[in-house]
Amino acid sequence: MDHLLETPIVYLKGVGPKRADLLKSELNIFTFKDLIEHYPFRYVDKSKFFKISEINGDMPSIQIEGSILSLNELGLGKSKRLVAKFSDGSSQIDLVWFKQIKWIQSSINLEKNYVVFGKPNFFNGSYSVIHPEITESEEYSKIKANFFPVYSTTDKLSRVGLNSRGISKIIINLITNLSKKIDETLSNEILRKLNLPSLHESFINIHQPSSIYQMQISSKRLKFDEFFFLQLYLLKNKLLNKKKLKGYDFKIVGTNFNNYYNNVLKYDLTNAQKRVLKEIRKDLAGSGHMNRLLQGDVGSGKTLVAILSMLISLDNGFQSCLMAPTEILAQQHYETISKELKSIGVNVQILTGSTKKSQRKVIHEKLLSGDIDILVGTHALIEDSVQFKSLGIVIIDEQHRFGVAQRGKLWKKNKLYPPHILVMTATPIPRTLSMTIYGDLDISIIDELPPGRKVVNTIWKSDRSRLQIISLMKREISLGHQIYVVFPLIEESKKLDHKNLMDGYENLIREFPLPDFQISIVHGKMTNEEKEYEMKRFVDGIANILIATTVIEVGVNVPNASVMIIESSERFGLSQLHQLRGRVGRGSDQSYCVLVSGDKLSSEAKKRLSTMVKHTDGFKISEVDLEIRGPGDLMGTQQSGIINFKIADLIKDNKILVRAREEVISLLKEDSDLSKPKNILIKNRLQSYESQKMNWGRIS
Ligand code: ADP
Ligand code: MG
Repeated sequence: MDHLLETPIVYLKGVGPKRADLLKSELNIFTFKDLIEHYPFRYVDKSKFFKISEINGDMPSIQIEGSILSLNELGLGKSKRLVAKFSDGSSQIDLVWFKQIKWIQSSINLEKNYVVFGKPNFFNGSYSVIHPEITESEEYSKIKANFFPVYSTTDKLSRVGLNSRGISKIIINLITNLSKKIDETLSNEILRKLNLPSLHESFINIHQPSSIYQMQISSKRLKFDEFFFLQLYLLKNKLLNKKKLKGYDFKIVGTNFNNYYNNVLKYDLTNAQKRVLKEIRKDLAGSGHMNRLLQGDVGSGKTLVAILSMLISLDNGFQSCLMAPTEILAQQHYETISKELKSIGVNVQILTGSTKKSQRKVIHEKLLSGDIDILVGTHALIEDSVQFKSLGIVIIDEQHRFGVAQRGKLWKKNKLYPPHILVMTATPIPRTLSMTIYGDLDISIIDELPPGRKVVNTIWKSDRSRLQIISLMKREISLGHQIYVVFPLIEESKKLDHKNLMDGYENLIREFPLPDFQISIVHGKMTNEEKEYEMKRFVDGIANILIATTVIEVGVNVPNASVMIIESSERFGLSQLHQLRGRVGRGSDQSYCVLVSGDKLSSEAKKRLSTMVKHTDGFKISEVDLEIRGPGDLMGTQQSGIINFKIADLIKDNKILVRAREEVISLLKEDSDLSKPKNILIKNRLQSYESQKMNWGRIS
């Protein structure tokens, strides 16, 4: 780290102990570096001068130059004000002050020329500027910048003179009094290649730019810096882990895989599935350890990839397990997988919280003896009592529900090496974000759906269009299809949500009476057995309609279901809506998603629903989600540390991020431990970056 920049802020000219304390508590500014990284959030363009005669009501601000003809105190009490008649030869305008009247009066010199800046007001047939910024022309000519920075600040800071202009002043103090150049962090090679200015220049010009170009190029440089070192930090760690962590070497793709692939599998893999499988096989073979995230939209065929990966493990003499977030999902995975693998004699078992004690004991024994090849289950798999003979791979479905600690427990299931890990998620996150948050994981993406899928027809309907919705339901049921009706369930409004669900159920029963129709209902107040019973009636095709709270959100596969009705859809988040819609459109017939909403919607809710109507691609939808909610909200607070940038913006500066990552990759390819002399600056900066990451706790 540049020692100069580590200087405590209290030592800066114009700061002192009181302001220093407030800078710390209000803006987390502790050092020179923190201050210089307190970037303007916008600029005011003062490159242009106007004539008073040109002023019109559309101008957000004006800058004029001239002299004061007269200065008078007018009014009494609250309307007491100081009015200056200001002229530039073309016309006249009033400058008005309500505060600091004495001080202004005493400092204005009628002999001198002034530059006036402010917002023009139209009042009683003429223009005036209230509380203008006013600078002597002579002073003004000394200021080099044309774009005046505007800084975020707080009331408390403003009260000690550190409003935006005050902050600008101390930043100018800092940059004009730097006793030496700020240490560069990037290599000459990269600076030249990307045509970026030095860090020193960028720091100065971001605060005091003399042209738009200067402002843009400095900001680009600083954004690049932020992305570059985060990516370097992540990718270097990944490289290190790869070298350090040994894993089982699955050399062969043998009998089980080939037998299943050639004789059982009814369809061809999609190109995306093939590509992903290749990536996984490459990880599994060799001495390294796989730690891979598999992203794929709902229905993209991730389960098949999981099955094939587990067969590779089996071919190499290892067991596998697959963890799902809920009982129902585990059950469904278990059924799918055991059905698929029955004919080739693979032993698949299921273990969940509701597995009977006696059965559990048998499973424990068979896992240890190696009789069980594949174990499917829920969190119950993580318990220490579950021990394997040799666990080769762990597949985790719907990653976002598993904590890091739980994953850690899995690692300890083997004596020698940890099992390979494949985390599957159907919640696509934008590449931008995965690059950043999962920058140290390998990522595979299935970006293609199996052929023959029809796009789900998404319709947004008002509460008042019940009749149309009912007639769509009747038609689909008469075609032999099934229907989901989903209600929201939010912790805070649980009672009301439950009532809405029950009301909805009553209404449906009236429209779809027994014995012609069967309705299943699943909600949080039922026991697991009751839920399972109701769910099974739907999965088995007995019930025409399943009405439920969001429990069916993830995973369940009923290809015969053709309609998804989402009640109070304005209360769901985008990724949830997308997940729910993914439950239909799994068969070959046209299916529908009906978003039912109230009429009075927030603009965000409108945006969510119209996005659902417009887009079907989960990645596209997650990008909109990111735009609406911002990265912090999207990922929850745990990861927000990683995405707190000072100047860069994950969404807007995506191109710079991609470029920075490319540069990091090529740098590490050429000089993986940064030992070449030309990369010494980068190495130094990375070191301080790493220790900074450790000290994250400093910020309250
Ligand atoms: P998800 O990625 O949501 O877990 P699934 O693995 O459940 O998706 O797959 C959805 C459906 O697509 C399943 O019925 C599966 O059998 C089918 N499927 C998967 N891969 C293919 C393929 N390559 N061709 C045709 N159908 C496929
Ligand atoms: Mg799935």
